[in-house]
Amino acid sequence: MRVIKLVLFLVLVLAAVLAYNTAQLQRKKTAPSAAALAPVDEAAAAQRLAGAVQIPTISYSDRSAIDLTRLEALADYLQIQFPRLHATLQREVVNEHSLLYTWPGRDLAAPPLLFLAHLDVVPIEPGSEGLWTHAPFSGDIADGYVWGRGTIDDKASVLAWQEALEILVASGFQPQRTLYFAFGHDEEIGGEQGAAKIAALLKERGVKAEFALDEGGVITNGVFPGISRPVASIMAAEKGYASFRLTARASGGHSSMPPRTTAVGAVARAVARLQEQPMPARLAPPTTDMLDRLAPEMPLLLKVAVANRWLFAPLLIHELGKAPVSDALLRTTTAPTMLRAGIKDNVLPSEASAVVNFRLLPGDTLAAVEHHIRDVVADPQIEIAHEGEAGNEASPVSDTRSAAFALLERSVNEVFPNAVVSSGIVIGTTDLRNYNGVFERRYNFVPTPLTPEDLPRIHGSNERIAIADYANIVRFYVRLLQNLNS
Ligand SMILES: [Zn+2]
Repeated sequence: MRVIKLVLFLVLVLAAVLAYNTAQLQRKKTAPSAAALAPVDEAAAAQRLAGAVQIPTISYSDRSAIDLTRLEALADYLQIQFPRLHATLQREVVNEHSLLYTWPGRDLAAPPLLFLAHLDVVPIEPGSEGLWTHAPFSGDIADGYVWGRGTIDDKASVLAWQEALEILVASGFQPQRTLYFAFGHDEEIGGEQGAAKIAALLKERGVKAEFALDEGGVITNGVFPGISRPVASIMAAEKGYASFRLTARASGGHSSMPPRTTAVGAVARAVARLQEQPMPARLAPPTTDMLDRLAPEMPLLLKVAVANRWLFAPLLIHELGKAPVSDALLRTTTAPTMLRAGIKDNVLPSEASAVVNFRLLPGDTLAAVEHHIRDVVADPQIEIAHEGEAGNEASPVSDTRSAAFALLERSVNEVFPNAVVSSGIVIGTTDLRNYNGVFERRYNFVPTPLTPEDLPRIHGSNERIAIADYANIVRFYVRLLQNLNS
């Protein structure tokens, strides 16, 4: 009897906790204000995007292979297609091929805003041309889509900004605060000649934007398991990047009399150790912000686990760690990517090496990663050195409770009333990493709706954007700038 009472009591307590948590998590769903969205001539806008796609501004790691005249052609094209904005905003060509537009605000004392996009695209993987339904630089308009390289990454954003500015200038809009639009020309190969030069120029001028916005977050449909609504991910940080080379040296010789461990064996063991012992996982902002914002949409059990992280963090980490895409949100990832050794099957190599790529979670420094490698490899025979550039620290983590985030959220709600606004971390890299010191906060978001089926199109084959979706990016940019004035 006593036991039954105790069980009943516990059930009641649990039910109360569940009810409380559920109530806590029910966000007030404010109806989107009936803001008038900008009228966009969708067919004409699609044509202008298609025209930009037809100019193949391809970046190659080997910079000597880049045809810079195409960047000039794209810059000329923008001037011709968007005459009003070019008559109103100040336009500067930075380091010959990047573009910086300034629209001075009425209130010069107020902090400015900085919006980024990039002019270059990635090459078409040789041999994959035949996989494209429409030729990669055709800019074909068919079946309600604009097709071609850059329609998602990132010419849609460059052109949508130009469309939005053209609409606003035509409507007599004047910004309250100064707006900068920075279009780098080599994002796909690191942004050293584009974004980094624009950032240096802005720094020199003492520009400190209240926030900067770049690509990196999208609106996903059906990507988060168990969540049926579209998710607009306004990213609040970006992971860092570093590669290390592990090298073992040995005296060569004939493979008939090998030592116990050859150079190949030593490197293989070091790589295996690093894979078996990744850097520790943890739940931290902005991933925790992402979970909090998505929780109301999750099945009940997950909802309770997220709301009671103090208790369930280990379980959440265990669950999220199962898939590479969510594991990447929890830790600095370890990815062995290159191996080099040997010239012949019966010759002991005098040197063997491996390259391991790390993507740093905010809070893990480059020095900490190097320390981790030495600790885990624990082999004096292995030399450890940076491969290529010294790498990038992870970005600062921006506040998702800020007025800036609220402004972005409101603009999303107005144009995409069905979407849940969430946050998160960019696991790749963007031009924004070159702008540290030029902004107070940084966010990554272009409202391109993508399904799981669309994700491989980015940097892959059959990149395309729906004409209606493209028009909504334009509407979003218009609303964002209008909301900045209110
Ligand atoms: Zn991009």
